[in-house]
Amino acid sequence: MARASGLAMRMVLFGPSGAGKGTQAQMLKDQLGVVHIASGDLFRNHLRLGTPLGRQISEYVNQGLLVPDEVTIDIVLDKVMPLMSAAGFILDGFPRNTHQAEVLEAKLVGEARGLDKVVAIDVAEDVLVGRLGSRYTCRQCQAPHAVAPGEKAPVCSQCGGVLYQRPDDAPAAVQRRFQVYQQETLPVLEFYRKRGLLAEVSGVGTVEEVYGRVTAALGLGPAGRPSAKPSPKPR
Ligand SMILES: [Zn+2]
Repeated sequence: MARASGLAMRMVLFGPSGAGKGTQAQMLKDQLGVVHIASGDLFRNHLRLGTPLGRQISEYVNQGLLVPDEVTIDIVLDKVMPLMSAAGFILDGFPRNTHQAEVLEAKLVGEARGLDKVVAIDVAEDVLVGRLGSRYTCRQCQAPHAVAPGEKAPVCSQCGGVLYQRPDDAPAAVQRRFQVYQQETLPVLEFYRKRGLLAEVSGVGTVEEVYGRVTAALGLGPAGRPSAKPSPKPR
């Protein structure tokens, strides 16, 4: 069923790796009918399909260089702008710095449709270390499993494959990633805080508890309808 265009929501979702951002984005997408735009997926698609943008990315990557902001911005806006008049979107992994945030803002405001909300899922570093430290992945089907400390990693409940801990989930890697996330993200969150767009929600608790906080921050009722009174914008 087509959604009323008045409900189209344009938002950015932030959260460190392990905060459950992907799950929350998926639930929002299902409930709101918005498009989930993960910058990492866009990059991989352009590379795989060998598009002109994909060729630009691979030139930088092959030389061991960071993909410049302008290319990243082109890739994301290429996806975002056609959605402006229809469904809303959830941006994930973009903007990564204030320059990207400024360009996005100028572009959206130019279309007379700025972002509605920016939600940051907040989880402390030690909680992430504990959470990811118990995460094991099936070698065969890639399904994630929680294995308590001391518990011998059993076989995959889905397919019987062997479980292993990805190097990415080891404590030192989690800490390093979290620090990079903080350094990159805090200035961008500040950018949105100044504009009264930022909502920070705790990412501790069950998926449903976190989702309840996210939807409340968006001014949505549990069924995806706007609640009677969205929270007032801070001044
Ligand atoms: Zn498996």
